[in-house]
Amino acid sequence: MDACPVAPRRVAPCSILLAPHETNTMPSRQPLSSTFITRPEQLAHALAIPLEPLQAVHAHYPLRISAYYLQLIKQHGLPLWKQAVPDLKELNDSSGLVDPLDEENLSPVPCLVHKYPDRALFLVCSECAMYCRFCTRKRKVGKPDMVINDQTIAAGLEYLARTPAITDVLVSGGDPFMLPLSRLEQILKALRAIPSVVTIRIGTRVPCTLPSRVTLRLAAMLKKYHPLYINTHFNHPAEITPEAALACGRLADAGIPLGCQTVLLRGVNDSPETIKMLMRQLLRIRVKPYYLFQADLTRGTSHFRTTIETGVDIMRQLIGHVSGMAVPTYALDAPGGGGKIPLTPHYINSLGKTLEFTTYRHLPCSYPNEIIP
Ligand code: SF4
Repeated sequence: MDACPVAPRRVAPCSILLAPHETNTMPSRQPLSSTFITRPEQLAHALAIPLEPLQAVHAHYPLRISAYYLQLIKQHGLPLWKQAVPDLKELNDSSGLVDPLDEENLSPVPCLVHKYPDRALFLVCSECAMYCRFCTRKRKVGKPDMVINDQTIAAGLEYLARTPAITDVLVSGGDPFMLPLSRLEQILKALRAIPSVVTIRIGTRVPCTLPSRVTLRLAAMLKKYHPLYINTHFNHPAEITPEAALACGRLADAGIPLGCQTVLLRGVNDSPETIKMLMRQLLRIRVKPYYLFQADLTRGTSHFRTTIETGVDIMRQLIGHVSGMAVPTYALDAPGGGGKIPLTPHYINSLGKTLEFTTYRHLPCSYPNEIIP
């Protein structure tokens, strides 16, 4: 078996320390300042908006927008603006929960969430290419107190190695694609060296917010660690650009099945037409719509939440009206770590010896529900 940091005594010889020239951010060839807006002054200047509200929000929550996504905001306006630009409403949310999914209490070691018996969420990077204003991990992503280092990674790997019931690991953060390529590969290699880990999934928004980072080298590296799945995150059809298509194409060409986890956001995508267009566009760039999430109860994000009726109505206008391939599961991640529950429109009227139901065209229909010997 390959040497890997799966046991405490082996951490030192095989720890995944960063090489001295590497940082936990962008490749050194690309200066941070030319790639990202991170300061309120930069954003106020770029969008010609008042500085003070940005400064007030930035005192509590981090700011990062890639130059690429900034151009999209300028072209397409509000639906993308709302996702990226700090808003004073983030500070006036008394109903939200700091940790709505109870992730901290479900972490047996720092930066690893073990909620379902056979799956674990492994946080390997504290940074993202954009700090989305609606982020569920708003409490810590991009903040100095989200500490991810060699020790937390080693502790996570060790936990996975001694918990063979976990066969599926979701590598997330932050965004794992913000790691230097060599560090991400070391983590994947260490996961693959754990015999009980069958499936590796990566959650990343980089194909949407900084698609140039999905290089052929990255795709070639990922290809070595199958079965590997990637769930990316697009929320609006305007995010489906030629650059995003190229990024997703590279990953798909590496044999990686791609899914999309969209969040239903008020003022961004809360109409059937927008979601329908997004789902169709995703299929066009080889991404299978996976989840449409009802927004979590995260503090600082209540202005994004829709009612459940809005989501169910959107699903009614998807199911049967577009290819089943384009239909995600509308789901709610239960507060307190209860797990995901699907929120499916109601089609069944009664179930006995006959199933009575209503079709997607609102017509009554039935189906015999008996075993014929
Ligand atoms: S990319 Fe994901 S983890 Fe990062 S801020 Fe956006 S929603 Fe949160």
